[in-house]
Amino acid sequence: MNNKLSTDTSNFEIYTDNLDSISRNRDLIRQSLIGFLSPIPKELWQDYLDFQKKRQRRFLYQINMLALLAYFLFGIADYYVVPDIGMLSLTVRFFSVILFTLIAHGFFQYCQRIEWLDLYLPYTTIIATIIWFALLSQSSSRDVLTFQYGSVIFIVLANIGVQVRFLSSIIPSLLIALCTCIGVYIVSGYSMHELFIFSFAYFPIACFSLYIGWNSTLKNRQNFLHSKLDENSRKALNQMAHTDALTSLHNRRYFEQLATEHIARSRQASYPLCLLLLDVDHFKKINDTYGHDIGDEILKMMGKIAKDQIRDHDLLARFGGEEFIILLTDTHIKQAQAIADRICDVISKTPYRLDAERQINFTISIGFARFLPHCHDLRTLIKSADLALYTAKQQGRNRVVMHHNPT
Ligand code: GH3
Ligand code: MG
Ligand code: MG
Repeated sequence: MNNKLSTDTSNFEIYTDNLDSISRNRDLIRQSLIGFLSPIPKELWQDYLDFQKKRQRRFLYQINMLALLAYFLFGIADYYVVPDIGMLSLTVRFFSVILFTLIAHGFFQYCQRIEWLDLYLPYTTIIATIIWFALLSQSSSRDVLTFQYGSVIFIVLANIGVQVRFLSSIIPSLLIALCTCIGVYIVSGYSMHELFIFSFAYFPIACFSLYIGWNSTLKNRQNFLHSKLDENSRKALNQMAHTDALTSLHNRRYFEQLATEHIARSRQASYPLCLLLLDVDHFKKINDTYGHDIGDEILKMMGKIAKDQIRDHDLLARFGGEEFIILLTDTHIKQAQAIADRICDVISKTPYRLDAERQINFTISIGFARFLPHCHDLRTLIKSADLALYTAKQQGRNRVVMHHNPT
């Protein structure tokens, strides 16, 4: 509980933080979606990674396994096209595929970072490229010069799997291109001419493969941003359905929903509950004298004061008009009386400041009732508190009255 009180209206902002942050997020997401690159805002980066982890992990594992299978099957092509290294190729591929399957399995099992899993295929493809050119360089077959054009598959494979971060995939792509060019240069007998011709075929395909990676990551960013926007709208609607627009406290409907749950739990676990109804005294007169807007500010201030005087697990709501309602959970009658007295007292001593010279003093009356499992439901409990509130008004206001339940 916080007894430091202030009539400074900036204090009321603490209740609107949630709605504010929802709309701030919505603006951020919309801006990103409008942009050509659909960048993920820094604040949402971790959410983006979590989102992709749920969706891409299985796909990335599968594409890695498929790539390993394809890599092994390519050994059959080696066997027929460059038969002088055919057996060597099948053996090397067989053992490296077994090794990399085990590594991939372990990596996907234990690594929790989707951005690393995303780059697993591009980086292992560098090794695959080196191994293949090392094998080809051992061959003296005439067909090797034509066959090495098959190496375009590496860069395509590497980029087809990229789903999460495009920029990070550029480095392995460049390394694959570099290894491929060095490989072609060596295999073609250090011929710049062969390398030159090869690059004409290679670079458009490399660019195309980068485009595939770029497009997949862009689509995934947009999917994430759209889903965030939907989640955001759901949250905002939910928040609005539960919140009183003026005070940003719970509204009556939400209070009744939560209070009903508390009552059911209290019946089971038999913990004590007390209900307080708070009503501003002569509020009509305040409105008539100072205007409705000032009346509204006083209601906001009152909500804040009441909030400061209760615990986090108590329920406070605007019940309607200038009435507020509080359900004190796990609270005995004596504690409830003390809390009600304190709220009443603090409000009577905290004037609303109109300006440096003028202030409005106001008071409230509180009726409260203790929850009795054998004779109360929420409706009758509120009725009891309302009867006590009526008595408080009758007795002259600015006071707390307890309802005397029949025992
Ligand atoms: P009592 O001490 O008997 O409670 O007198 P009262 O004047 O407070 O009681 P009454 O029920 O006659 O008046 C309540 C007033 O609260 C009437 C209504 O105009 C005002 N009111 C209800 N909702 C709002 C609101 O959202 N903003 C403002 N400024 N006034 C409101
Ligand atoms: Mg009233
Ligand atoms: Mg009133």
